[in-house]
Amino acid sequence: MSSSRKPDSRPAPAPRRQFASDNWSGICPEAWKALADANCGHAPAYGEDAWTARASSLLREVFEHDAEIFFVFNGTAANSLALASLCRSYHSVICHERSHAETDECGAPEFYSSGTKILLVPGNDGKVDLEAVRHTVKKRTDIHYPKPRVLSVSQATELGTVYTRGEVTAAGAVARELGLRLHMDGARFANALASTGVSPAEMSWKAGVDVLCLGGTKNGMPVGEAIIFFDKELAREFDYRCKQAGQLASKMRFIAAPWIGLLEGDAWLRHAGEANARAAELEDGLRKVPGVRILYPRQANSVFSELPSKVGKGLRARGWRFYEFIAGGGARFMCSWDTTSDDVATLVRDAQDLAAEACTPKRF
Ligand SMILES: *Cc1c(COP(=O)(O)O)cnc(C)c1O
Repeated sequence: MSSSRKPDSRPAPAPRRQFASDNWSGICPEAWKALADANCGHAPAYGEDAWTARASSLLREVFEHDAEIFFVFNGTAANSLALASLCRSYHSVICHERSHAETDECGAPEFYSSGTKILLVPGNDGKVDLEAVRHTVKKRTDIHYPKPRVLSVSQATELGTVYTRGEVTAAGAVARELGLRLHMDGARFANALASTGVSPAEMSWKAGVDVLCLGGTKNGMPVGEAIIFFDKELAREFDYRCKQAGQLASKMRFIAAPWIGLLEGDAWLRHAGEANARAAELEDGLRKVPGVRILYPRQANSVFSELPSKVGKGLRARGWRFYEFIAGGGARFMCSWDTTSDDVATLVRDAQDLAAEACTPKRF
């Protein structure tokens, strides 16, 4: 006899919010509503629509600059196409050894630039050491070395730290002194602004940034990043580059519209501020767990820590997900726009339990 079971029609329980990455989160209500509003029948394709125009003009307003703006699907495309537009094949891009462009883009910057070489510099807490940048540029001036052309910085950094406005300005000054353009990977730019209270303009073009790749995905959008060229000349023929790379959305309005939701009423900064605040709570909680060490200054929405192995394993066994490959051994906990104080407290309680268990001698 075959047992044919009826399919279970109950909705699956909502999965728990995790600390793996801010791109594990869903879509924030403001972006969701803007997306729904854009779904109102037919509209011109390939960015000729009213939502793309509105999102671009909002970004120009927010950044107080008549910039050239493009919308692409993800950060890898944004970074690598922006870098490719700044370089020729025989140039080089200088960035931190932990930068996303180096470690997480599968060689896309080199690929799209037809061979531009990435040169790595060290620096404390994920920030480029400007003396190392100077040394990298000046140590060779001969034709056998790839000609340095761009300095790329991530704001916030891959280690969850934030360049101050003064530090970005210093990077901009060194770039100009050395004849480099300054590119900023702003996958978490909103978190950096929320953390410092500095304005978008002051943290970008006023500090010397030529091109900003502004993250939308991790900030609450379904998908999408904006590439903002503050120097319009650098954007020449960039539309062709996007198209060739498969990054020209035909229904562009659906990657542009969520920006309207995020930017109108400053939802982007509010969400980033919430995520940062949850990370601050998490840092406080983890500092009280015996054996846990916090690895870098917590300045945005992530906490990097060294966990006793029983705590790390135990958290995984209890269903928590977090990354361990990013900081070379440390555990990274990333808060999202929708992470709650309860989520943080539950995680911390589990860590505390596990640390206490690990310390209790077994009875025989
Ligand atoms: C997430 C992230 C990106 C974008 O990555 P994609 O997966 O390509 O969207 C870029 N830079 C940094 C620092 C990031 O954390």
